[in-house]
Amino acid sequence: MNIILFGPPGAGKGTQSDKIVEKNKLFKVSTGDLLREEIRKKSDQGKKIEEIVNAGKLVSDEIINKLIEGIISDSRYENNIIFDGYPRNLKQAESLEILLQKYNQKIDLVFSLSVPLDTIIKRISGRVVCSKCGNTYNQFFNPPPMNNDCCNNKNLKKRGDDKVETAKKRYETYQKSTEPVLKYYEKSGLLKNISGENKIDEISNKIAHFINLIQG
Ligand code: ADP
Ligand code: ZN
Repeated sequence: MNIILFGPPGAGKGTQSDKIVEKNKLFKVSTGDLLREEIRKKSDQGKKIEEIVNAGKLVSDEIINKLIEGIISDSRYENNIIFDGYPRNLKQAESLEILLQKYNQKIDLVFSLSVPLDTIIKRISGRVVCSKCGNTYNQFFNPPPMNNDCCNNKNLKKRGDDKVETAKKRYETYQKSTEPVLKYYEKSGLLKNISGENKIDEISNKIAHFINLIQG
């Protein structure tokens, strides 16, 4: 089963995908993480990516496709992928379709978490991420566990891009570029709209319900 999770930055994709990954043993693919990993590896491609990112430019679809193909073609992840925040635009969605076909796979479910901007702003101001395991928490809505070896004060960090102005811009960009992608998946009958304003567990129960229907 391959899944896509959509939602504006701060909608709760990371929070929900952590849970889905845990329950269903899926492999999470975030293009942001893939790019950062490539940069860390200092490969030829990684150096190219670093230049582009440092110049504040968007990485080309060609580079993204190459990274995504690396995952899709890997038998360890075959039919066990959850895409978080990808595809970003219609062109990427079409490329993804072609790549999946090439490796005899498809998308089975698409979730869209909708959350209004004012709620997003409240959420990102409390967001903390564990630099060791990547888990996401919120100082107001979803506090980190007490006395934890991993997710503790030493490892929990605020993200540098979690500022109100940045959040507004990211929200607008998301709406513009993702609207057509959502329509695309709506047409194929895969799209499930879920309100991201509910409690974290209510949302994950809904998501689990749809996954169970597919798995039978
Ligand atoms: P995304 O990955 O979509 O950017 P996150 O999963 O990082 O979003 O969530 C953004 C912030 O909102 C985090 O601090 C998270 O703990 C909090 N959060 C996520 N889902 C909910 C929810 N349903 N209710 C309240 N806060 C939430
Ligand atoms: Zn942790």
